[in-house]
Amino acid sequence: MLDNHLPTADLQAIDAAHHLHAFTDGDQLNAKGARIIIKGDGVFITDSDGNQILDGMSGLWCVNIGYGRDELVEAAARQMRQLPFYNTLFQTSHIPALELAQRLAELAPENLNHVFFNGSGSDSNDTNIRMIRHYWALKGKPEKTVIISRWNGYHGSTMGAASLGGMKGMHAQGGLPIPDIVHINQPDWWGEGGELSPEEFGIARARELEAKIEELGEDRVAAFIAEPVQGAGGVIVPPDSYWPEIQRICDAHEILLVADEVICGFGRTGAWFGSDTYNIRPDIMTVAKGLTSGYVPMGASIVSDEVSEVINAGGEFAHGYTYSGHPVAAAVALENLRILDEEGIVERAGRDIAPYLKERWESLAEHPMVGEATIKGLMGSLALTPDKASRAKFAAGSGTVGYMCRERSFENNLIMRHVGDRMIIAPPLVISHDEIDILIERAIKTLDETYAAVKAEGLWQSA
Ligand SMILES: *Cc1c(COP(=O)(O)O)cnc(C)c1O
Repeated sequence: MLDNHLPTADLQAIDAAHHLHAFTDGDQLNAKGARIIIKGDGVFITDSDGNQILDGMSGLWCVNIGYGRDELVEAAARQMRQLPFYNTLFQTSHIPALELAQRLAELAPENLNHVFFNGSGSDSNDTNIRMIRHYWALKGKPEKTVIISRWNGYHGSTMGAASLGGMKGMHAQGGLPIPDIVHINQPDWWGEGGELSPEEFGIARARELEAKIEELGEDRVAAFIAEPVQGAGGVIVPPDSYWPEIQRICDAHEILLVADEVICGFGRTGAWFGSDTYNIRPDIMTVAKGLTSGYVPMGASIVSDEVSEVINAGGEFAHGYTYSGHPVAAAVALENLRILDEEGIVERAGRDIAPYLKERWESLAEHPMVGEATIKGLMGSLALTPDKASRAKFAAGSGTVGYMCRERSFENNLIMRHVGDRMIIAPPLVISHDEIDILIERAIKTLDETYAAVKAEGLWQSA
């Protein structure tokens, strides 16, 4: 293990023989072999051939604090020696869980003071579905079961969470969505805004929520869930008019608002939560990913005083996971939050890193293949297009050019991901100005090479 490993080809052969990968075309991967990552330090990862790769995606939007922080390792080791496991189900608690609940209540918006622990973002959203429906039943309104979410939103991969999500490709596998989940359109101005200005479009898309509530009847609608900025959908930064209008609609109707902060939480948008950045007042926040900076798995639902009061007064809430509030994960989360706070990492991300990255990232819009270059905090997106003026899509079909670009980015030792023909980044919050310069330099090289290849292969055609 570690550095003293087999040749890459042997590792790839074992991987292909036995490892079923998540969100992967297995035959396609096994034909070429997985890139095998050996170690990480700061914002860089190293593969089995010794390449130093700038991780523009923080793993999967989670390694906010960067790789290689020994304090988190020590926190895990200390907790494993002291108490590697105990449950929080049947009238017991332990110190890491109660301390972490207290800390999250301090960090979260003012009325969110109660924490239900889960193992991941997906099962946190499953917790939310059950808690929301149970909440309304306890309030004597059991017919309020419908949860409204958005097309192209991402809320996880379990039956419930994937149903909340608006990924049609996921719904097509395994019999989704589950009943009483309803989707409205996303605030993607570049992709769907037509002739409207971004501000007009933001209002129009928010009003789809009001129209849907009226269509279904307020007595049927339990909640609306959304990411402050859609992540996996392609870093869709909503027009500024969108969230104030959504908040107005939620205030005007008796429904709960769930902010899925699994990506936006813990500094990603330049503040502790996306809800802070956009002045959202949620009743429930879903968190995971950056909660532990990905060093160990953990998720949580942070809920309001009102929701918690109703659930607590309603007898047993028959829901939970063996690993709800796992002490090792909680200890790592506490240490992660301590460092993010005491080293001013979240504060600096908002004050210094985000503005610098924004300036550099937005300059990529000058590239002939880039339509919009949008960014919020430390999550950015490039829409690739053969015609900026008309915001046209490539005739080759969504994802063809994006995938070509992603492949070149990997070759250039920069992890950028593609979502269709959008290229996205979400680097660790600890990235420096110099490292941002490296990121941009590699991104430009990647765009140039992709542009040349697209032209050479006759793909420079509008749909
Ligand atoms: C990643 C993600 C999830 C799911 O989290 P997992 O830990 O992968 O289960 C849920 N919501 C959002 C917004 C996410 O980005």
